[in-house]
Amino acid sequence: MFRIKFRVKFIQVLGLLAASTFLLTVSAIAGEPRGCVAQTQTDDGQWWRETRSIMGTEIQVELWHEEKEEACAAIRAVMKEMNRIDSLMSTYIESSALSHLNNNAATRSVWVGKELFTLIETSLKFSELTEGAFDITYASVGRFYDYREGRIPDDETIARGIQVINYRYIQMRARDYSISYKVDGVYIDLGGIAKGYAVDRGIEILKGRGIKQGMVGAGGDSRIIGDRRGEPWVVGIRDPRNESEMIAVLPLMNVSVSTSGDYERFFEKEGVRYHHIIDPQTGDSAREVRSVTILGEQATRTDALSTSVFVMGVERGLKLINELQDVDAIIVDGDGQLHYSDSLLELTASVH
Ligand code: ADP
Ligand code: MG
Repeated sequence: MFRIKFRVKFIQVLGLLAASTFLLTVSAIAGEPRGCVAQTQTDDGQWWRETRSIMGTEIQVELWHEEKEEACAAIRAVMKEMNRIDSLMSTYIESSALSHLNNNAATRSVWVGKELFTLIETSLKFSELTEGAFDITYASVGRFYDYREGRIPDDETIARGIQVINYRYIQMRARDYSISYKVDGVYIDLGGIAKGYAVDRGIEILKGRGIKQGMVGAGGDSRIIGDRRGEPWVVGIRDPRNESEMIAVLPLMNVSVSTSGDYERFFEKEGVRYHHIIDPQTGDSAREVRSVTILGEQATRTDALSTSVFVMGVERGLKLINELQDVDAIIVDGDGQLHYSDSLLELTASVH
């Protein structure tokens, strides 16, 4: 018997591919109709699905339900929650609580409310766990990169910014949910964890409405509840250098899957790839690996860990994941080679 860390039933990949209705869930289908639409229909219900652009990414919700009204209302409730979280935690929205914090916390203690406080607290725990690889103050430098315009901050800006990338500069005051920054120039961005958090919130909403089978996806972060009417969900992990190729196809249920890749937001200059995952030590993009996929129970955790392991690289990253009891990893290194955490390795060995 192999040890599987999380509550997922793997089914032999080869047998599954031969037999089942095969569905890639994590990438939005180009040109699909907008709005809440029915997918496949059977006697006792239907799959319903909707995709919307929120939080700078594609939000997908898919679920099984007998009835259109309730299915579409559940999807709408999830989308509404995504908008709420975005307006609280986006650094692109000037009126968000996070922007308010960034603009004021160097001079005074700022009330952020319980929810934002708690997610920042969770982020700090991941900083401890990953020895600073995950650090939401990466943005003290990260905010000066412009991936759309292809702009790199000058050496002085990077040198000055690195001084204030340090999660220990965030002063938490739990008694009134307030936060201050210990030095000037600290800037927080929750891009490495907020989508996972939003996915978890979305799943809670679906569960609260009695949905037993469904998925919520936000860009590279997805969470699945249940199976697909007796079959597993099939999640594809793309080749980081070829959008139309898959490097792995996983039959899964009751799981969160997060992928961090250097192909999401990037530009190249003089043969160097600049992308949105920043090594807090250097203030520059982390370049040891091309993509990291983490499997686990909750999307907040898989999201934070995919960004973390991307920064840590193959050796340190796998060491961490193998020490943790509840998560697995698939890493594509700089040469395109695949690396699996121990329990997945045992599993792939038993399939082939
Ligand atoms: P995405 O799904 O946005 O591609 P990832 O999970 O790979 O996300 O996270 C990338 C995002 O994480 C970046 O856009 C940035 O907001 C944030 N980030 C980048 N570097 C770090 C870091 N070292 N620690 C924490 N967050 C980071
Ligand atoms: Mg992440």
